[in-house]
Amino acid sequence: MFPNQFAYHRPTSVQDAVRHLQEIPDAKLLAGGHSLLPAMKLRLAAPAALVDLNRIDGLRGIRVDGGIRIGAMTTYRQLIDSAELRERVPMIPEAAYHVGDLQVQSLGTVGGALAHADPAADFTAIILALGGQITAVGAGGERTISADELFVDLLTTSLQPDEIITEVIIPVPGGRTGMHYEKHRHPASGYAVVGVAAVLTLGEGDTCQSVRIAVTGATSKATRATAAEQALTGQSLDDQAVARAAQMAGDGLELNGDHYASAEYRRHLLGVMTRRALEKATSRARG
Ligand SMILES: Cc1cc2nc3c(=O)[nH]c(=O)nc-3n(C[C@H](O)[C@H](O)[C@H](O)COP(=O)(O)OP(=O)(O)OC[C@H]3O[C@@H](n4cnc5c(N)ncnc54)[C@H](O)[C@@H]3O)c2cc1C
Repeated sequence: MFPNQFAYHRPTSVQDAVRHLQEIPDAKLLAGGHSLLPAMKLRLAAPAALVDLNRIDGLRGIRVDGGIRIGAMTTYRQLIDSAELRERVPMIPEAAYHVGDLQVQSLGTVGGALAHADPAADFTAIILALGGQITAVGAGGERTISADELFVDLLTTSLQPDEIITEVIIPVPGGRTGMHYEKHRHPASGYAVVGVAAVLTLGEGDTCQSVRIAVTGATSKATRATAAEQALTGQSLDDQAVARAAQMAGDGLELNGDHYASAEYRRHLLGVMTRRALEKATSRARG
């Protein structure tokens, strides 16, 4: 299938890209193109113009400066190759390694994944579990959006139409913190049928001082499993407490059902993925 005709702009600064978005109401940003271009070919999207972010300096790369800062145009491949991330937030390169295939990893970007907000994407849940902050620049200037406030609904975020994600800031994990992302992948695409990211910090006597559990694939948007988080906080992290929390992972969530996996099956997977993610995160936190 061929997409509709569109104009093509290749700005070299974020300000120019914002200007294009303001001037052309139907314009879309182009990052890795791995979600947008298939949608255009299927005529699910027909933007009047593409504003390509690939020539803008400074949107790619990873640095530590008041948090771990990941540029919006950083590709999955760059995440996989980052020694900094492997040391401080190993869940990120590990998860990136299991996104799609080599082509997707080489071109797909963190900013594109967050802005697209696919209900089965991996990095929505990962950034949510890590308590990430998203920097967005638009006509009104720069603002910070917490990952908790970014995902509104299916393929819908709280970004304004003229806003561009420029970077994601992850707090540097402190204390005895462990993390893990576990997914049941769709055999064809690699997308999460259900994926669970868990980040927990141990307190005295190996109790769970804090935990964030984020779920993807199961509902219309990446979301926190708050019932499971509450069940675990302050508890000793033994097998029984972890199993009990995992069983509660679907509580209060409206689970998707489709031709591949029913809501019932997703609830089952959610329990299994949550237990595995918590067990691995706990073992990493213990060191
Ligand atoms: C075969 C295949 C398998 C895949 N498997 C997986 C998988 O296993 N797991 C997974 O998570 N994903 C998977 N993906 C999706 C992949 O991760 C996408 O690349 C990603 O979701 C979008 O990133 P992108 O850079 O390609 O964005 P694009 O497709 O270029 O853009 C996506 C959307 O985000 C907007 N956008 C892009 N960048 C910005 C920005 N900086 N600020 C604001 N808006 C922006 C665009 O305008 C567009 O609306 C797969 C894709 C394919 C084709």
